[in-house]
Amino acid sequence: MLFGVGLALFFSETKDLLEFSAVLFSSLFGSTVPDWDLKLTHRSLLHNTFVPLLTSSILYIAMLITNTSFSFTIASSYLISYFSHILLDLLTGGVVLFYPICDKTFYIMKRRYDDQATNTLAEAAGLALVLAKTRLH
Ligand SMILES: [Zn+2]
Repeated sequence: MLFGVGLALFFSETKDLLEFSAVLFSSLFGSTVPDWDLKLTHRSLLHNTFVPLLTSSILYIAMLITNTSFSFTIASSYLISYFSHILLDLLTGGVVLFYPICDKTFYIMKRRYDDQATNTLAEAAGLALVLAKTRLH
């Protein structure tokens, strides 16, 4: 989760505390949504490339229609953190990236999802991104 938040913060251009909060909330949300398929078809239904693109587009359009502030910032933070979750799952067992078109599980490494070293490294990278971003301002 910290990796997704850090990544979203790093790539955002927040101008004030309200926009910073929007990035924080949307990236926390985006980094947790993929695991909503935990009791269904885990690592396929919400862990593919289509759902984050589709949901972030719907989110962005809905916010544009309702004239929501920071709509691009919120949608892009959601998208970045969603894909960061998928990236980390590619390191820990793999995901069905092109579900439902293809049932092949892709992975970068086959570490266990609870591998302490991998999780610590991801959290440290997220923290480093947050610190790097806050130092840049
Ligand atoms: Zn996951």
